[in-house]
Amino acid sequence: MGVSHGTWADPVDYLRTAAPFDPVLFLSPPALQAQARRFLDGFPGLVTYAVKANPEEAVITNLAAAGIAGFDVASPEEIALIRRLVPGAALHYNNPVRARHEIVFAVGHDVASYSVDSLGELDKLLAAVPQRRAGGAPVEITARFKLPVPGAAYDFGTKFGATEQLAAVLLRRIAAAGYTPSLTFHPGTQCTDPAAWESYIRAAGRIAAAADVTPARLNVGGGFPSHRVNEQRPALEAIFARIRDVTDAVFGADAPALVCEPGRALVADACAALARVKALRDPGDGTGGDGAGGDGAAHVFLNDGIYGAFAEMPLMGATDRVAVFSPDGTARRGAPVARVVFGPTCDSVDRLPGDLLLPGDMEEGDFLLMQGMGAYSVVTNTRFNGFGALGVQVVMTLDV
Ligand SMILES: *Cc1c(COP(=O)(O)O)cnc(C)c1O
Repeated sequence: MGVSHGTWADPVDYLRTAAPFDPVLFLSPPALQAQARRFLDGFPGLVTYAVKANPEEAVITNLAAAGIAGFDVASPEEIALIRRLVPGAALHYNNPVRARHEIVFAVGHDVASYSVDSLGELDKLLAAVPQRRAGGAPVEITARFKLPVPGAAYDFGTKFGATEQLAAVLLRRIAAAGYTPSLTFHPGTQCTDPAAWESYIRAAGRIAAAADVTPARLNVGGGFPSHRVNEQRPALEAIFARIRDVTDAVFGADAPALVCEPGRALVADACAALARVKALRDPGDGTGGDGAGGDGAAHVFLNDGIYGAFAEMPLMGATDRVAVFSPDGTARRGAPVARVVFGPTCDSVDRLPGDLLLPGDMEEGDFLLMQGMGAYSVVTNTRFNGFGALGVQVVMTLDV
């Protein structure tokens, strides 16, 4: 119920029938809704979706159909998108730096919660945001704090977040000004270690004590891992349990209600990316090997690369969740060969990191299907060099 039924059974059904020349992102609504339920059933609090990970309308409407009722938004565009698609949703405007006209826009669209990490930005909010929303519910302001925590693929603390001392000052001022005072942090992205959350929650306890304010809610951010490497399935339930246990241990009877805002972990594994092999070069033909790739591996040129759906690869590293199909849909099963994989643009930066182990019998015209590609792919896709005509297709299952 509520699932938008795809035209295609699976990605192979599509590639065999449509033989696309342009890259495709496949979305499986059943997989997306199942992952939403995993969060809704397992996370001990309110689950909101970080829209920036993938703002495709089918993603938003399927998450809403599965029961996601809150959204982490960062711009007027994202606010308007969610108000249009899920009119009753709770909007959490958690980009801590906003122009004044953006704040006015947010108030006009009944935003429920704002995060802040500096006194100047708090003053801007206090000047423009009434303490109560149109329906009378109190507006929440969360003080966002940071810690130097290793373990995330890249560190968000270097851009946003107040020190513990400043967060305590912010929390006091928020409470004194008559808003619902809360705390928030964002541990990074693709954090596989529950300890990333633990250190932040302990810091939240220190901040609340220093401010002498009991936070109404603690938003533990996003950063939950997706399935990138075959042998490493994300242990979400262990992370959820650690968040609950540490919050109880730190705050006891005063424990704030918990909120999370996953992007990647909700949407990544609901999508797979399809790219087509434009050319293959062997080390022996004078262009591979010691040429541009420089490490002796045979070269593959795809119709998509790091300016397209694979934009995150240089930051996040490669994944081994890859299969190759001939145009008739037969899986290539040749012994794996290390390949240097280039994208279609005319610069050597457009290369997937490392080598990919790909079937030795792959050929020009074949299709490469990469799983776990729903986050930070469509949304950061560019049209650089005239490539990047990325289509989105709905499939019932990604299993092939
Ligand atoms: C990007 C972001 C998220 C989502 O991060 P994921 O790693 O995709 O889960 C959540 N909260 C904030 C504040 C963010 O900036």
